[in-house]
Amino acid sequence: MLSWVQKRGTSEHRTGLETPLQGPKQRCWFVWDPMGIIFAIATWALVLSGAWVLVRDLLIPSNNVFYAIANGVVFHLLASLALVSHLRTMLTDPGSVPLGNPPGPDTVSYCPFCLCAIPERVYHCTVCRRCIRKNDHHCPWVNNCVGEDNQKYFLLFTLYVGLMSTHVLLLLAIPVLRSHARGEWNASSTVSLPGPIFFLFLVALMGFIFALVMLCSQMCSIYKDKTTTEMLHQNKHSQGRQSMWANIKAICGPRVSLAWLSPFHSPDRYKVSERHVMA
Ligand SMILES: [Zn+2]
Ligand SMILES: [Zn+2]
Repeated sequence: MLSWVQKRGTSEHRTGLETPLQGPKQRCWFVWDPMGIIFAIATWALVLSGAWVLVRDLLIPSNNVFYAIANGVVFHLLASLALVSHLRTMLTDPGSVPLGNPPGPDTVSYCPFCLCAIPERVYHCTVCRRCIRKNDHHCPWVNNCVGEDNQKYFLLFTLYVGLMSTHVLLLLAIPVLRSHARGEWNASSTVSLPGPIFFLFLVALMGFIFALVMLCSQMCSIYKDKTTTEMLHQNKHSQGRQSMWANIKAICGPRVSLAWLSPFHSPDRYKVSERHVMA
């Protein structure tokens, strides 16, 4: 049975270094989608322009050097981790099934666009033009599908964007709340925000809402052991449902460690070793 995603696919294929289904990843993965590339550049532009406004209009004018340095370090640390996570989500093969993959014992369907036999929980993406294992959704902000092999980086991207946005919103809100507590405001007071600060507020608010929605959606998906695609289209995969904890370990690695929070650390080697143990 073909899924709705497959039916809406195109017959175009992207060439690349093909690999066995469970083998090493493609050396280079990039989706040549003009809209996705624009969105990905916009993501970087928003973070970098936000950082510039924060430093120029909020931290440098501050009289408190410790406040300026401490908050500058925290923001830039979170922003760097968010941008590295973004790059890794965008440039990591999300779990593509090789073009022309031959049928095997786990085959449940056939993709007429990739001309490959596909196992359960594989869905064709019309933007990537490939079948992706545990394809959650195609995210234009990271110009890639979120699938089995890059979900950790996407989770970290949303986490660090959420923390970064919360930090900026607190930096903007705390002076206002303090001023209100001191009775410097009353019902007739008017507030005028300088343009750059208003821009920073909008960027931070947008980042906060994006991160909140995406993190809730991903946590729901992990809890139910269903990808967003499966939830949207009531696709009941036949595999037994894994626990939320088992799903988190499958995404981030089998042992709880600080590496779970690092976008520099790849969980792939754990998955490969698990496959070897299972074999
Ligand atoms: Zn396909
Ligand atoms: Zn895709």
